[in-house]
Amino acid sequence: MKNSIITSNPYNQKELKTYNYHTDNELKIILDNAQNTFENWKTKEIKERTNLLQNLANTLEDKKEIYAKLMTEEMGKPISQSIAEIEKCVWLCDFYITNAEDFLADSIIETDAKESFISYDPLGVVLAVMPWNYPFWQVMRFAVPSLTAGNVGLLKHASNVTSTALAIQDLFEEAGYPKGCFQTLLVNHDQIEDIIENDIVKAVTLTGSEPAGRSIAAVAGKNLKKTVLELGGNNACVVFDDANLDKHIDTMVKARMQNTGQSCIAAKRFIVSEKIYDQFLSRFKDEVSKLNSGNPEDSDTFIGVMAREDLAEELEQQVNKSTDLGAKIILGNKRNKAYYEPTIITDVTEDMPVFKEETFGPVAAVIKAKDNEQAIKLAANSIFGLGTMIFTENTDNIYNFIGDIPDGALFINDMVKSDPRLPFGGTKASGYGRELSKEGILEFVNKKTVYIKK
Ligand code: NAP
Repeated sequence: MKNSIITSNPYNQKELKTYNYHTDNELKIILDNAQNTFENWKTKEIKERTNLLQNLANTLEDKKEIYAKLMTEEMGKPISQSIAEIEKCVWLCDFYITNAEDFLADSIIETDAKESFISYDPLGVVLAVMPWNYPFWQVMRFAVPSLTAGNVGLLKHASNVTSTALAIQDLFEEAGYPKGCFQTLLVNHDQIEDIIENDIVKAVTLTGSEPAGRSIAAVAGKNLKKTVLELGGNNACVVFDDANLDKHIDTMVKARMQNTGQSCIAAKRFIVSEKIYDQFLSRFKDEVSKLNSGNPEDSDTFIGVMAREDLAEELEQQVNKSTDLGAKIILGNKRNKAYYEPTIITDVTEDMPVFKEETFGPVAAVIKAKDNEQAIKLAANSIFGLGTMIFTENTDNIYNFIGDIPDGALFINDMVKSDPRLPFGGTKASGYGRELSKEGILEFVNKKTVYIKK
């Protein structure tokens, strides 16, 4: 196990910074700090917490360019998409500023008692283990609702975005949150196990890959601690016979290629009904070939580099194994260090890695289905269950298919996307629990039944 973190810029491979992991003693101070802060933080009125949320939104807005540049430097996200990510975090704050009081108000339930209701008490110190692909958004969508509900947060961010992780702690402190409300940990995987086992930590949320989810959930389970898991996905984009390609082809391309293909909810498998297959493929290929690859710091770049060279190599292997099994490359597939050319792979069958596994980069697998019904069956054939999108002009008919999609989300004529107003989460190997909306703010609370008899 290494004893420090070294970050580097995936576009030019330049080393950025070295960070030492916390010592046991430093960790003890951080955990005690978190617990002590919680004792006071939990007593605050929700209004007081949403006032701080307003400061948080203002600081995000004021320092948007600085935060965006940090993410771009550490993980290669095109700068315009980094700025959009910070703007989405502001939207998230605005949503909970408006709605948190209502979501956390006692729910009255009529019984034979004089009064009975559910009160929503914070749990305490919550550990968040987070990924690098949306370095601000993933953290904020945990922290904003959870802290507003009265919890305090500890962040173990992906090692390659350590500067961003530290900037997020500074952001909370600059916005006026009490020190200890949100702390970033510099720890390795072994240290995480001890932290989860510590009595101070009451719950754990992890956004990341399926193996990481299994490993963290096993430790949390052994210690009977609540978990929320937001894991990988293998979303299908289903194109029915009657899909309107003029209207939606741009959305389909964006659904796969935004964030250089590194999104859990990206469309990874394009399952296209035979009648529209040739037309789709030609339009899709035209649009993908127009995407602008380049320096992530240039504002007109749409495809940057992948976050690390080893991840690009992994993707290349998944593609190579699939072509060995008979798939065909019809566009792209050149790799240069962490850069992976936008790629389309056809003749994909259910036994191939690009069908069965999550591909986390700019590779679109295209599968021909004999009709709409078979397309739905293929879409549902996945160990993952984050989301499915269907493109069709007959939206009245869609109600017949809703029950056939066993995922956390179904989007018709749009890409699966996260939205503060809507619950977000998966089924099967994509995890469990929900973030965002009312569901998200109620994940890390004790839903306490109160019963008062005369
Ligand atoms: P990852 O390798 O699983 O890492 C995620 C986080 O977990 C990092 O902080 C990592 O730390 C930590 N980690 C990994 N294994 C661990 C272990 N055994 N013990 C303790 N900590 C551990 O995932 P990633 O490459 O950062 O992110 C990509 C994955 O995240 C994809 O599968 C994607 O689909 C998924 N994701 C899901 C959602 C969702 O909402 N469902 C959203 C975004 C991303 P280190 O960096 O130190 O290894």
